[in-house]
Amino acid sequence: MKAQLLALLNLKRIEEKAYRLEVERDRIPQIISNLQNKLELNRQAASTAKSNLTTAEAKHRQLESDLKEKESLLKHADEKLMQAKSNEEMLAGQKEIENHKAEKAKLDDAILNILKDLEKLKPAALSAEKELSTFESDIQADFKRMNEEKEKLQVLITEQLERKEAAIKNLDRSVLSTYEKVAAAKNGVSIVFVENGKCANCNMKVRPQVYNEILSLTVLHRCPSCAKILLPTTLENIP
Ligand SMILES: [Zn+2]
Repeated sequence: MKAQLLALLNLKRIEEKAYRLEVERDRIPQIISNLQNKLELNRQAASTAKSNLTTAEAKHRQLESDLKEKESLLKHADEKLMQAKSNEEMLAGQKEIENHKAEKAKLDDAILNILKDLEKLKPAALSAEKELSTFESDIQADFKRMNEEKEKLQVLITEQLERKEAAIKNLDRSVLSTYEKVAAAKNGVSIVFVENGKCANCNMKVRPQVYNEILSLTVLHRCPSCAKILLPTTLENIP
């Protein structure tokens, strides 16, 4: 049994290595997806900044055109007033001019405000666009690196799986059958240590008699709670 337990210990190390590599590999799609989300947010920010600027510019053009129209109306009202032939016409003309002037003042204010807005919106749109373009080129490099990393990990995983196949050949039939049952659960590694009488995987305390049997290297036990194969840590000191 001792030789079988040592073969399982060897298998345990390979499994752990493969498992670590798999976890690392499986993290990559999440990292890529997070980067894509960030990119999307950057795109939205740049697009919002640009659209805010475009809207303000259109509003500015509209206000300038309204102002021109107002100035022309004012000029026309001035000329009309010059030609007033009665007191009534004069008063009406003055009233009209006052109204136009009040509206023109409102337009002047609105133009001042939109110019102030534009002073902020222009650099904001520019910097958002610049940020996006930097982010886009950085992220392409990140994607490339991630994909290369994933391929590298896959090669290492395949290597470990091949080593595992070879290591499994050292197991005798009954140990192999136990191992395959645990491995079929596809729940991380199949073989774990018992440390201080507890399963290192689920922390369940094993019965003292079982623990003694495990320590004696004569019986193969599985954890009563998580069903993993249990090995004593003392196995590691056996040359
Ligand atoms: Zn357990």
